[in-house]
Amino acid sequence: MNTNIKDYFISLVKIDSESKNEKEMALKCESDLKALGAKVKFDNAHKITKGNSGNLYAYFPGKVNKSPILFCSHLDTVTPGNGIKPQINNGRITSDGTTILGADDKSGIAEIFWAIKELQKEKFDYAPIEVLLTISEEIGLLGSRNFSANQLRSKIGYAVDGHHVGKVVVGAPAQNSITYMIHGKEAHAGVEPEKGINAIRLAADAISQMPQGKIDEETTCNIGTIKGGKATNIVPNQVEIKAEVRSHNPEKLHSLTNKMNQIMMHTCRKYHIGDFQANVEISVKKEYSSFRVDIDDEIVQISRKASEKLGLDFSADIAGGGSDANIFNENKNMKILIAGSGMQNVHTVDEFIFLRDLENGYKWIKEVIKTYSEE
Ligand SMILES: [Zn+2]
Repeated sequence: MNTNIKDYFISLVKIDSESKNEKEMALKCESDLKALGAKVKFDNAHKITKGNSGNLYAYFPGKVNKSPILFCSHLDTVTPGNGIKPQINNGRITSDGTTILGADDKSGIAEIFWAIKELQKEKFDYAPIEVLLTISEEIGLLGSRNFSANQLRSKIGYAVDGHHVGKVVVGAPAQNSITYMIHGKEAHAGVEPEKGINAIRLAADAISQMPQGKIDEETTCNIGTIKGGKATNIVPNQVEIKAEVRSHNPEKLHSLTNKMNQIMMHTCRKYHIGDFQANVEISVKKEYSSFRVDIDDEIVQISRKASEKLGLDFSADIAGGGSDANIFNENKNMKILIAGSGMQNVHTVDEFIFLRDLENGYKWIKEVIKTYSEE
């Protein structure tokens, strides 16, 4: 490993690791984790996800007799993430503008590793630590979904995959993805349009009745894509619509999903011609569950103490999206927060991180481990 976190972080972002191509990055992390004294193993999640590396798990035996504390990050990046050429200007690390930077989530990895390295340098007696580096987080949390979480011994921990260093996310919504395949009836649009059922017209009718956008403080829904039709002279017989519903409240998620499906089915029933009845195939996929960790919970208090000690602003926030933390929190024995690593403008070529945040990020993790170990 390098002599400072800046150089170490830069060495990590130079490794190509778009989703499903995490192998080189995983091998680099494996060797660094081993050098830090961890027991390391890969799983076979990639056999299901069709990538070239499994999830990487590491265990640091501690000198304090406690259950371990978990730190997760993901090995993959979004595109365009190959051939990243990091630049440093005025304490700010960016790409050269043609790619993402990959601070999402290599800043998390660098900060976790650096915190452990520094604790060892200080000869601090820490509690056992588990580190989990997942694959293909960016394409649907595939690594965490296919990781057998029952091998984790930690009851608390963090996915270091957020924005503000010192702030944590204590809750995130559940999400359903819905696909509607509408079947109408094809006909020549100029000669006998009355013999057709226009699937685009039907789709528009249904969509115009559906709730949209922010439904309430904890619930949203969106029609995201629509595909259908072949030519202007054909009454289209097929339309595919993709939609999503998110809510922090499982009952609202369920009832809003049902409401949208009911509107779609009810609208279809209105469209028939002779013996032909328009119909819709509906598939609902639960992407992940919601989670909410109580503000008074131990892990939130540890986070607050670490931030106060370093003079960083603390807050316990609610997120609007899903992450590996949603998957791990499905295990009712675990409470996993999302911690900020300093990454900014993620998933764009303007992604950056301040060097100061990279440093505060590892110091915060170090302080969290100290606080947990000493309690
Ligand atoms: Zn991320």
